[in-house]
Amino acid sequence: MNPVPKTPHQGNLFLKIAVVVIITNLSLALGIIFHLKLIFTLAILAVTSIINLGVIYTFLLPLKSLLKFTVKFINGQTNERFNIQTGDEIEELALAFSQINQNLSQTLTKTLREKDLLVSEKNKLATIISSITDGIIVVDLHKKIILANQSALNIIGIPGNEVLKQNLEEIIKLTDKTDRILTSDEYCPISLTPSDTPKKFKPNEPVVLTNKANKKSQIRLTSTSVIGNTQADLGCVLIFHDLTQETALEAMQVDFVSMASHELRTPLTSILGYLNVLAEDGKNNFTTTQKDFVNKILTASQQLAVLVNNLLNVSRVERGAFSISSRPLDWAKTLTQAVDENKLQAAQKNISLELNLPQTLPSVSADPVRMMEVLNNLISNAVNYTPEGGIIKIAAKIGSNEVITMISDNGKGIPKEAIPHLFTKFFRVTYALDTSSNSKGTGLGLYLSKSIVELHHGKIWVESAGINKGSTFYFSLPISTISKLPSNFPNLNSKPLDIPPVSA
Ligand code: ADP
Repeated sequence: MNPVPKTPHQGNLFLKIAVVVIITNLSLALGIIFHLKLIFTLAILAVTSIINLGVIYTFLLPLKSLLKFTVKFINGQTNERFNIQTGDEIEELALAFSQINQNLSQTLTKTLREKDLLVSEKNKLATIISSITDGIIVVDLHKKIILANQSALNIIGIPGNEVLKQNLEEIIKLTDKTDRILTSDEYCPISLTPSDTPKKFKPNEPVVLTNKANKKSQIRLTSTSVIGNTQADLGCVLIFHDLTQETALEAMQVDFVSMASHELRTPLTSILGYLNVLAEDGKNNFTTTQKDFVNKILTASQQLAVLVNNLLNVSRVERGAFSISSRPLDWAKTLTQAVDENKLQAAQKNISLELNLPQTLPSVSADPVRMMEVLNNLISNAVNYTPEGGIIKIAAKIGSNEVITMISDNGKGIPKEAIPHLFTKFFRVTYALDTSSNSKGTGLGLYLSKSIVELHHGKIWVESAGINKGSTFYFSLPISTISKLPSNFPNLNSKPLDIPPVSA
């Protein structure tokens, strides 16, 4: 049987249906794909969000609070412990931060306490320095003032704020007693290396400070360089002791002593004169007791005259009015004369006086009257402080441009600790004050002897091995450059002394 043939119309229908089916399936597939994609995307989004939330909770929040803590910590506003429990590196970091914070806050508290202590120490020091009555100035290595206390400002006469950073030499001028201007290198020494020993400037004599207002003050100055200064930039410390008031008081005292001794000298001279006449007259007329009384009055008056004369000379020395008139002086002759004058006093104590001179002794340049005072003082001291039967040796030797004279005894000697004070005013060794020793000194003789020798540009000194070991006094005088005197030159060696030596 033959298949039924298809009509063309029938063929198209099948095709159309097939296309529709295919398209429908395709769109279905596409829809499914689209939904799948959507679901997938949503799933990804959900996962990402969950991850993000996890990150936020796990990392960002702790990091944020760590950051907050760090800011507080930087600003020094916290001393709390930072507590994060994330169980990871962030917790470790937070712990480390907390530890650092704790250490720092402890260090800070300690530092603040130390700072308070330092400030209070600084204030204490500043108060002490400002209340010291001596003036204190500190300068840096360039001699610019970095500290001046109130007393220094009073001397300088300039307010504190104007003095700081000023050069020392522009603020003060210092002169010595000869009016020589001292340079700052002299009075403000600087040690540039730490190994240097501190340099000192401490003149024996007061110096005169002239300030910018031209006001002068007598001051005793001590300055010392500061060691180890290079980093600290400290140059030198100057200490001024203002002597203006003391000097004025001393001047008043010296004036009084000078006036009193002048006034006492005149009646004493007539007392001594009349007593001498009385003693002479009484030689034949007086009883032994009367003679004894007159001799005692005479001795006491002579001692009083020596004291008055010494006081007058001391006041002259202090006022700078003690003058000498140096001439070429036959020194061998002068020494012989001094020994002769003291022989009687020595003989009364059975002390031998030995003069030992070189064959030739040059003339010295000296004031004969003053030098005789020195010799009498040294020889009579040797007699006074040597027990009966002792030996006193007087000798002279030629040095370089000078003649050195020695007066040595085997008497009481001088303790080592007394030697530095021996030539100062009113100084007497304790044993000399012992009333039983019958010594009636004033403690002025050696002071005056030193002043006289120094006025001659000489030196005086003493050596003693100690108590009861005797002593030797030395003094030097310049050799006269004029060896021969003109024939008509007056014989000054025979000029009488102001006051005769006291007989024991
Ligand atoms: P004074 O009037 O007391 O003798 P000086 O100034 O002459 O005054 O002497 C001061 C002191 O030095 C004396 O008091 C004495 O203690 C001591 N002195 C001086 N010369 C001698 C000496 N040759 N031996 C021992 N001591 C002496």
